[in-house]
Amino acid sequence: MDEAYWDKEIETIDRHSLQQLQLERLNKTLERASKSQYYKRRIPAKINNLTALKDIPFTTKSDLRNSFPEGMLAVSRDEIVRLHASSGTTGRATVIYHTKRDIDNWTDLVARSMYMTGVRKSDVFQNMMGYGLFTGGLGLHYGSERLGALIIPASSGNSKRQIRLMKDFHSTVVHITPSYALHLYTLFQEKGIDPKNDLDLRIAFLGAEPHSEETKLRLENLFGLDAYNSYGLSEMNGPGVAFECQLKDGMHVWEDSYILEIIDPDTGEGLSDGEEGEIVFTTLKREGMPIIRYRTGDIAQTYPEECPCGRTHRKISRIKGRTDDMLIVKGVNVYPMQIEKVLMDIPEVDNNYLIEIETVDYLDSLNIKVEVRQNIFHGGIKELESLKKRISEDLKNETLISPRITLVEPNSLPKSEGKAVRVVDKRDRDV
Ligand code: AMP
Ligand code: ZN
Repeated sequence: MDEAYWDKEIETIDRHSLQQLQLERLNKTLERASKSQYYKRRIPAKINNLTALKDIPFTTKSDLRNSFPEGMLAVSRDEIVRLHASSGTTGRATVIYHTKRDIDNWTDLVARSMYMTGVRKSDVFQNMMGYGLFTGGLGLHYGSERLGALIIPASSGNSKRQIRLMKDFHSTVVHITPSYALHLYTLFQEKGIDPKNDLDLRIAFLGAEPHSEETKLRLENLFGLDAYNSYGLSEMNGPGVAFECQLKDGMHVWEDSYILEIIDPDTGEGLSDGEEGEIVFTTLKREGMPIIRYRTGDIAQTYPEECPCGRTHRKISRIKGRTDDMLIVKGVNVYPMQIEKVLMDIPEVDNNYLIEIETVDYLDSLNIKVEVRQNIFHGGIKELESLKKRISEDLKNETLISPRITLVEPNSLPKSEGKAVRVVDKRDRDV
């Protein structure tokens, strides 16, 4: 019979033993980190229980930037075999160094995550994430090789070639950003390809950027596959930090390798299961560059329930947004993801949108450009007006704001092959 787990012992470990393991590894991490310039005076030599972790200061993105390039390096440079840099989603890039064993551990986490979704040796995996400094390409690449699937290192972009690869080699699994997947579907339509019947795809990993449940469901329906949410950040290796299991209801965080905390982003206080806040991670196995209590800026909540899949590692919800991408429009807080959720739930809305925010008469003004289906766009003006009204009403219900809506033709808004740019902020900074 097919084994359900990649590493049953660790994936189903009881919580008590898991916490013991965490404390042991945390103390090893403190010892290693104290060799770095940055941490040597900031952390205790040892702690006696996991609750004492909260007395250690947070590490932030700007700490990483300020200690660029080697301030957090905890081993000699000779031990380092690879570096990755964050894509700089917000601000300047940061660098992360890995030893041989770091790469080996990361690879194992990725293989474990992929296996959990049902990928097996017989699969053909087309990795459509950028190869290079970005972790999405190489991270999944080595994990897949360890698992034993046949990998096509397609990298991102060149949509025509992607489609040809899918057809020629009968790809069954893809790794793709949700925004690019939506764009690809439009190309399929243009070429008269029905991915449900003409291709062999059965699994997609969606990652690297926030996306709503509605987008994921839309993609599952359009492509006829199971989509799994894949979450990671280069500071914590990259992909393979948290991944959905086959129940597709929340992502298991691999707690043998990371300590997970959810904090109130304003006060820094720890929050309980079910309370939404900022994710904070501590690496537990990292040698080259251990990072302690890293404030990710990503907003989510933990699930209190045990998962029926048998894995004991806690689950987090999908990422609602980042602390730094929350928009404040006329005093109302709104995450771009709330807007996406509304749009992707309306069938007449096509696969792309853009949020623009600017200053008009000293006030914030929000304008949302929405691609609509071809037949709707060329249909009657009355239908367009009523669709606009519906979008406005649904947005008002979800977010309490009433943005200006502009309906545009499909395929007319800018698209990206990597992380999508969904918000253009043109507000006057000095007002
Ligand atoms: P980078 O380190 O450049 O790969 O960027 C990592 C960031 O991408 C994370 O901190 C998140 O903000 C975002 N991200 C990655 N995966 C996901 C995901 N599955 N859902 C939402 N956001 C994600
Ligand atoms: Zn599960």
